[in-house]
Amino acid sequence: MGNAYAGQILRVNLTKGDWKVEELDMDLVRRFIGGRGLGGKILFDEVDPNVDPLGPENKLIFVTGPLTGTGAPTGCRYMVVAKSPLTGAIGYANSGGYLGAELKFAGYDGIIFEGKSEKPVYLSIDDDEIELKPASHLWGKSSTETDELIKAELGDQWRGVDTRVSCIGPAGEKLSRIAAIMTENSAAARTGLAAVMGSKNLKAIAVRGTKGVRLADAESFRAKVAEQVDVFRDHPAYGQFGTMHVYGTAAGMALGNVAGALPTRHFSGGTFEAAEAELDPQLMRETTTVRQKGCFACPIACKRVSKTTAPGFEGHGEGPEFETLCLLGICCGVNNLQAIIKAGFICNEMGLDTISTGVTIACAMELYERGYITDAEAGCKLNFGNAESMVEMTRKIGLREGIGDILAEGAYRTAEKFGHPEVFIGAKKMEMPAHHARGLQGMGLGYATSNRGACHNSAMMSSHEFPAIGTGTVTKGKPQMVKHAQELAAVVDSCGLCLFPTGVLMQEGILLLFNEATGFNFELKELMLAGERIWNQERLFNLKAGFTKADDTVSRRMLEEPLPDGPAEGNVLRLGEMLPEYYQLRGWNEDGIPSAEKLAALGLDHVKSSNKI
Ligand code: SF4
Repeated sequence: MGNAYAGQILRVNLTKGDWKVEELDMDLVRRFIGGRGLGGKILFDEVDPNVDPLGPENKLIFVTGPLTGTGAPTGCRYMVVAKSPLTGAIGYANSGGYLGAELKFAGYDGIIFEGKSEKPVYLSIDDDEIELKPASHLWGKSSTETDELIKAELGDQWRGVDTRVSCIGPAGEKLSRIAAIMTENSAAARTGLAAVMGSKNLKAIAVRGTKGVRLADAESFRAKVAEQVDVFRDHPAYGQFGTMHVYGTAAGMALGNVAGALPTRHFSGGTFEAAEAELDPQLMRETTTVRQKGCFACPIACKRVSKTTAPGFEGHGEGPEFETLCLLGICCGVNNLQAIIKAGFICNEMGLDTISTGVTIACAMELYERGYITDAEAGCKLNFGNAESMVEMTRKIGLREGIGDILAEGAYRTAEKFGHPEVFIGAKKMEMPAHHARGLQGMGLGYATSNRGACHNSAMMSSHEFPAIGTGTVTKGKPQMVKHAQELAAVVDSCGLCLFPTGVLMQEGILLLFNEATGFNFELKELMLAGERIWNQERLFNLKAGFTKADDTVSRRMLEEPLPDGPAEGNVLRLGEMLPEYYQLRGWNEDGIPSAEKLAALGLDHVKSSNKI
């Protein structure tokens, strides 16, 4: 009988070029579950929060959850954790696809990379056979080229098992702070962790595994999974005829527009004229979608393969997601669907976060329109709505060409470089996602308090605030909702599940699968307490890194300039109405520092919450 964990962590020292296999600490996973929780705990214990994120002292942790690879609906995720070069805070980003499951099948819950290789390498894992292989010939290659070359080199379909590859593209090699780690077009995108991988001269990880995952009660687990898959099949949003399957995440476009919560022209407005016309998901389905695609064990299959044929924007690849459409499109004032999809393809190939890339280009467009960036500096007309420039700028960021060298540092540093940091839109130096903080108060509080900077997935408030117009602009009750959403997301991220179907599985469904797989027999409150523990553990890392209450905020425009259009017109983010209550609910003092009682209740009282205490 197993417990859903592989029971081993692979520790790779890139400086020495060696590795060892360590036993998974089961006491630790009972407290931090796995995935994001376990990765954050390892980071806290092993990395000084004040290290240079791009120095060899930072560690890069790939870690799966107990439900990864089990067959649980959407149990495909792996999490990457390191100190972020974009924010200086804890960085984490997760990805779907197949690599997470493959890593479990090979017998590892995670990999910890330490140090820095002298020359480019990639890690090959073939069950128990581990090897660091030269990767100089892969340096400079796109993510797809890297994937194909490694598979050709290792011989794909060995014993009928596919090789799964996770890699960086040119953007990660060139240490772009908005670079993403790519797994067959799925991206571990946020917080710039591909730059950490690039700083270690680690080009890729290639994994093949044949061992499967041993569960506490496999028969009962499979029966529960079958029941849940039935629920998914007939679900109006996530089922075979549901909007998420038919349109993908782009299905949210009309909802965002109706709520007045789109990031129009660098968040200067909340509605966009093309959202229900040129960028309509049905139009996309009819003109650019080739087929739907899903991650390992996902009954939803929200992803899609697309093709663009418009002159100058020809291409073939994956996407676009809602965030890509919004940030490379609406945020840049671009309504040209094929240009947006093309820019998304470039992000995939270069290994760039489409959210941060889109917002950074939009930030540069605003700087240009205000006269802070000249034509000569931009190298082109960089006005809002200029589809050609948006696509070209994406390529330049990936290669650090011309002004792209500055933009590759992210929006905050771009705005600062041109003397106007106030133009930056985001939190903790990370670019704001598509959900406008002035139209969605809970989302705004989530951005301000997220441990990794402006992040829509740290508290999935859009599902609460999008559907009913008017609820987004309300602050009452939001601190409690945000706190709960943050802890639930921490549990989901740590279990190895995708966040999207949380509203179908519900916390009770996640608990059921978790218990059947691990045999831990947790009560719901224990599982949710683990979520709260994980959140506080991340907070402690940030406090030790020097973050304070002053960092629990978003850009000034969100707080002071009323939204000029749409149903949320006249609103600003009323953070002051929510933050004190949020701190109180968290058991933190008025400076946002966890009380001794709270740390004791969470079993974190062995650590001090800041260097000053
Ligand atoms: S819902 Fe979409 S992103 Fe999530 S696991 Fe399924 S296919 Fe992947």
